[in-house]
Amino acid sequence: MRIDVLTLFPEMFDGVFGASILGKARDKGIVSLQAVNFRNYANNKHNTVDDYPYGGGGGMVLKAEPVFSAVEDLLGGSSGGAVESQAAESKPPRIILMCPQGEPFSQRKAEELAREERLIFICGHYEGYDERIREHLVTDELSIGDYVLTGGELPAMVMIDSVVRLLPGVLGNESSAVTDSYSTGLLEYPHYTRPASFRGWDVPEVLISGHHRNIDAWRREQSLQRTLQRRPDLLETAELTEKERKWLRERKSQAADPESFS
Ligand code: SAM
Repeated sequence: MRIDVLTLFPEMFDGVFGASILGKARDKGIVSLQAVNFRNYANNKHNTVDDYPYGGGGGMVLKAEPVFSAVEDLLGGSSGGAVESQAAESKPPRIILMCPQGEPFSQRKAEELAREERLIFICGHYEGYDERIREHLVTDELSIGDYVLTGGELPAMVMIDSVVRLLPGVLGNESSAVTDSYSTGLLEYPHYTRPASFRGWDVPEVLISGHHRNIDAWRREQSLQRTLQRRPDLLETAELTEKERKWLRERKSQAADPESFS
């Protein structure tokens, strides 16, 4: 996979791209990561990439020209829409705008993006973007949550990390991504490691029993219980067996009836 990030602050990515899982994925040649300063594509002598909004009002607006030029340069095109210039290639890149008004980023979205060959992230700054970037350049607008950050760099880092760790060969133990929270549609079960007893708090017996079927059953039940407590909304779409649905119905009716705990 190749990932390019268009940003006014490429130095922010130095540490993130070089460390931990992203650094290892890059060293192994599984992903190519680069941060490109789109100020280099400014078409004026002061190298400005922002301008005042038409219609007045506060804040500056990111201009269309440098962003289009940077994307087109990355894609090897020169004029017209960058997406159209990729038509001959087998799989067109995803051009992703960091945007608090965008679709909420999720594990499902990370899985979808991990199947692509090429991603381009555009990090905004200032009050907003020229709307033509949204309308004629990008394929996706994504948000990391209902709050506003100064720029798109941190959201891009969040998304890139969650995508790259899903690429085959990146995580040492492949199964660790499979059981992660949200991958299964549920929150992950609790983990314990040695010692078996710490300050009088013991590890659940079943985990040291060596009985793998019982361990799997315990973990699944813990996952369900944790999801019910913390994120019941996820249960609406999670894949559950009939037995699990029945178990959940019972838990819910117990919770609704305080007498049942006495
Ligand atoms: N005025 C804009 C609005 O109300 O939608 C917010 C602009 S924000 C100060 C500047 C940039 O930071 C955005 O263009 C976007 O690239 C990025 N950004 C801020 N919050 C974000 C979020 N929750 N998710 C993704 N990107 C975000």
